[in-house]
Amino acid sequence: MQRQVAQAQLQQLRTELNKYRRAYYTEDAPLVEDSVYDQKYQQLLQLEKQFPDLVTADSPSQLVGDIPSSNLSKVTHEVPMLSMGDVFSFAELEEFNERVKSAVGHPVDYSVELKIDGLALSLIYQQGRLVQGSTRGDGTIGEDVTNNVLTIQNIPQTLAQPLDLEVRGECFMPKAAFARLNNHREQNGETTFANPRNAAAGSLRQLDAQVTAHRQLSTFIYTVVNPKTAALTTQNQALQKMAQLGYNVNTERIVSHDLQGVKEYIAKYQNLRDQLPYGIDGVVLKVNDFALQEQLGNTVKVPRWEIAYKFPPEEAQTVIHKIEWTV
Ligand code: NAD
Repeated sequence: MQRQVAQAQLQQLRTELNKYRRAYYTEDAPLVEDSVYDQKYQQLLQLEKQFPDLVTADSPSQLVGDIPSSNLSKVTHEVPMLSMGDVFSFAELEEFNERVKSAVGHPVDYSVELKIDGLALSLIYQQGRLVQGSTRGDGTIGEDVTNNVLTIQNIPQTLAQPLDLEVRGECFMPKAAFARLNNHREQNGETTFANPRNAAAGSLRQLDAQVTAHRQLSTFIYTVVNPKTAALTTQNQALQKMAQLGYNVNTERIVSHDLQGVKEYIAKYQNLRDQLPYGIDGVVLKVNDFALQEQLGNTVKVPRWEIAYKFPPEEAQTVIHKIEWTV
């Protein structure tokens, strides 16, 4: 492809994707399906790979989330809240595994977890007491949602140990709560939310915490920031520790010594997806050993030690009344 043609296409993709990003991240009202966004984003990445000098600072490939523009106060994340690279096939998964192996010089264990379809949340504790809850925002500046977080039932406000700790996880709306909320809104002639992810984002980013309190949000916590201070050496250990501390940690996870185990896990949850009481949009692989994670490091946007395997878009709407599990 000619450089000029690529430049024009990139300009068009950037404008279009940035419009979608604003609607999705800031207004909680997506203009297109995730699969449409993902496809266009992959097109942009391919073109930027072919013409690296055409990458601009406002390209979605260089940006995490969006600059928060709500009336909520802003907080600065000491450790940036990054995005995540994604793959859509086993061939791409193998390429990721090869990259990891050649960077560290040997095969690695992976913590394999469900990719919960919600929004990232940071929780800061001082002396074991919850002092701040915030959204990811643009990765560096997030929104202060402390009062709202205090209304979420499965977030401990006091830990069993008086720790100074930051944990991160996913805030989501269970499918049944989403169905109830949209039903209620429809009956009242209000606009409905496009999906549980947007309902969760809209419900957490409220100025009035009473509104959040009625929305039945839930969380899964999956990251300890600065795990060394807690003497944790692997992701699996960190997840166990967080469960002991009282967080809701997803139990549908494994540690896999090879890619075969990862592929079997993916196949299993792709089948079970509709039966889960919360939305997932894929599976996350994380190099289990924190020392190796540190060695691999991050790009400006994503860690090199983790990747999301994204599921194909769901064909049919989930049948809510068949769900019997509870979160
Ligand atoms: P992402 O949502 O693809 O992946 C990163 C996020 O995964 C993390 O921030 C975290 O919140 C979450 N996550 C869930 N489970 C996790 C686990 N077990 N461990 C670690 N993290 C976990 O990345 P992103 O940059 O926030 O958004 C990109 C995605 O958002 C796109 O792939 C697209 O599907 C969607 N999007 C859609 C539109 C649209 O218009 N429909 C616009 C922008 C983005």
